[in-house]
Amino acid sequence: MSSLAKLDQRFVWHPFTQMRDWLRREPTVIVAGHGAVLRDVKGREFLDANASIWTNLHGHRHPKINAAIRRQLAQIAHSSALGYANAPASRLAEKLVEVANRRRPPASGPKTPGRKSRIVNPKLAKVFFSDDGSTALEVALKLAYEFTRRTRGPKTKPAFLSLAGAYHGDTVGAVSLGHIDLFHQAYGGMLFKTGQVMSPYCYRCPFNRAQPERDDARNYRRCHWECVGQVERKFAAQKKRGNPWAAFVFEPLMQGAAGMIPQPAGWLRQVAAIARDHEALLIADEVMTGFGRTGVAPLAEPEKEGARRDAAPMLFASHQEDVQPDFLCVAKGLTGGYLPMAATLTTQEVFDAFLGEYEEFKTFFHGHSFTGNQLGAAAGLASLDLLHGAASVRARAELQKNLGAELQSLWQLPVVGDIRQVGLVAGIELVKDWRTREPFALGERAGIRVCEAMARRGVLTRPVGNVIVLMPPYCTTKAQVGRMVSALHSAVKETLPAP
Ligand code: PMP
Repeated sequence: MSSLAKLDQRFVWHPFTQMRDWLRREPTVIVAGHGAVLRDVKGREFLDANASIWTNLHGHRHPKINAAIRRQLAQIAHSSALGYANAPASRLAEKLVEVANRRRPPASGPKTPGRKSRIVNPKLAKVFFSDDGSTALEVALKLAYEFTRRTRGPKTKPAFLSLAGAYHGDTVGAVSLGHIDLFHQAYGGMLFKTGQVMSPYCYRCPFNRAQPERDDARNYRRCHWECVGQVERKFAAQKKRGNPWAAFVFEPLMQGAAGMIPQPAGWLRQVAAIARDHEALLIADEVMTGFGRTGVAPLAEPEKEGARRDAAPMLFASHQEDVQPDFLCVAKGLTGGYLPMAATLTTQEVFDAFLGEYEEFKTFFHGHSFTGNQLGAAAGLASLDLLHGAASVRARAELQKNLGAELQSLWQLPVVGDIRQVGLVAGIELVKDWRTREPFALGERAGIRVCEAMARRGVLTRPVGNVIVLMPPYCTTKAQVGRMVSALHSAVKETLPAP
């Protein structure tokens, strides 16, 4: 075992890891990366098939982001946002507001029948920086809570609604918004209660009357949008109780840690309209989906080199459904996946509710030591610049197409039940037999074993339960996508023999 591996085992406690298992085998020690490739201490190379837990956008050691950080480092690495402004944070906030308000004109897509929704599309105007996805959600939660008390009256007890299986981070507020039983069992006593409503998990939807097919379940589902009806009922019931939901929290287009659960086109638009009609605030968690991950959906023509900026593609999943939230939470890819930095964008209206004389104490009492960090902001600016370049737009469109094409071969495997691709991310759900959709028991560690077999083939990713995640960096080539999928193919064959 390398001395670095020994050092890790002696001192480091890893996240979401059964450390007994960890200590039983030699850990892979990553020492370098380039593009979509990671290299370990023994010189072995791996493809980074989950973009280093969904963070990396443009590849590792990107020259432009490296240069931006170096330039900033020559000035200063960090000074506090408590009491002082700094240039990169101000510039990044301006850019984020610009891209967060760039939306398609209202579309003519599916609407909730009989609904005359008062579609309000607020303008996002202010940026509160924090450190990671959890804190971005924590900020939105606290702002929405206090904003609701200030607008509905101090006796109000703001209540939050989120989706079944939701995951919004590991801080206590974020866990409270989540609905993953495994995490709640342990910490239930310290969490506050939130409502949950069914998510549109077509593959396992009790209202989907279709028999399994060799296709993404969204394409062959047979239902009457009962999932939207459930949301409608949930809002009506809470209104009847006299305390309408203060906010509806969701991941747009695809729920990540819930199991890569994609939403059928039109779902988000419909449920957002319901929430708006009940005057709930919308909190969009775009920690995973933000910055182009859910695909290349151009506003107009894909940008040509030197073309006008407003022709650039949309970067947020909410906008693909013409939804503009009151709170937009971003993290992971904000810095291109380089540094821990996050942001919560919100409206002027929310901001104004916290204005007052000093002694009124209407201040938002919240902040972190590294809020608005200069190195992170410099990386974020460079990353946004790259995202708007014609080369990146082209690469993303290619990757989306290549991923879709490669994934088709997996339908040959009888233990592949569903393949769900949303733009540049895919979840492959493994089941005992595709004809029955029977799931593997979690104790069988099917997802983990397949990922271990993929690692032996030089491809790194982590499963969510029995769903294998492919979320390559945007620079991943056609050949590399091919290698990722063929490693998955043969890993499944080796680990989970056909029924
Ligand atoms: N929201 C979503 C949708 C996430 O996927 C994650 C992390 N996987 C988080 C929030 C929490 O982010 P972080 O781990 O950076 O705190």
